[in-house]
Amino acid sequence: MTSMSGYTSYGICALCGKRTTKAAMTRHLGSCLAEHEPSRGKDARLFRLRIEDAYSPIFWMDVEIKATATLEVLDDFLRHKWLECCGHLSAFYIDEDTFMVPSAYRMEQVGLFADPNERSMKVKLGGILNKGSRFEHVYDFGTSTDLKLRVVDERQGRIGSDSVRLLSQNEAPVWECEVCGEDASWICTFCMYERGNPFYCELHAEDHECEEPEMVLPVVNSPRMGMCGYDG
Ligand SMILES: [Zn+2]
Ligand SMILES: [Zn+2]
Ligand SMILES: [Zn+2]
Ligand SMILES: [Zn+2]
Repeated sequence: MTSMSGYTSYGICALCGKRTTKAAMTRHLGSCLAEHEPSRGKDARLFRLRIEDAYSPIFWMDVEIKATATLEVLDDFLRHKWLECCGHLSAFYIDEDTFMVPSAYRMEQVGLFADPNERSMKVKLGGILNKGSRFEHVYDFGTSTDLKLRVVDERQGRIGSDSVRLLSQNEAPVWECEVCGEDASWICTFCMYERGNPFYCELHAEDHECEEPEMVLPVVNSPRMGMCGYDG
């Protein structure tokens, strides 16, 4: 995906609505979390994760997740929020281990054999992560979307009955039409690999002549923009 050098990425706090930069959001959440704690429920061990596109970190979010939740829950959340197009396989890479959906299922799907470092995603975060842990997630081994994840903080607290909640997310970046400079709403996935900035407004997306016209996809606020058939 195209990088935007010199671009300051802003995001919105999902708890209080504050708009601030990506760097300042981490500090802001440190105090905002405690002020927006539900009064009911039991204290639980919680991880705060900063998640971003590995190559285009203008796409980022912060989430809080219970240590008792499994990697499968986190995978589902990432698919729902950012990734799902047509049920591709995915994996987490943590230290030396690869965590995937169970291998028997995978062998049926793609005929691969498990390697010795491969484990199921049905494992609880609390047993494998600590404050400071860094790890990766890959969705789709064809046209892959790679995410970087980091455990920014760990605390005892309450987030309600869900295992995971969104804390903040980047504002949708605005892209300019390559032809006229107006706000773009389409991206050409063919030109993406040929040229740097294949964005088009409504009008110029219609005019765009390309070898594969059906490869135009909507601009969306996700690291999966322009990939496979992802349309948000
Ligand atoms: Zn806030
Ligand atoms: Zn797909
Ligand atoms: Zn245009
Ligand atoms: Zn094109």
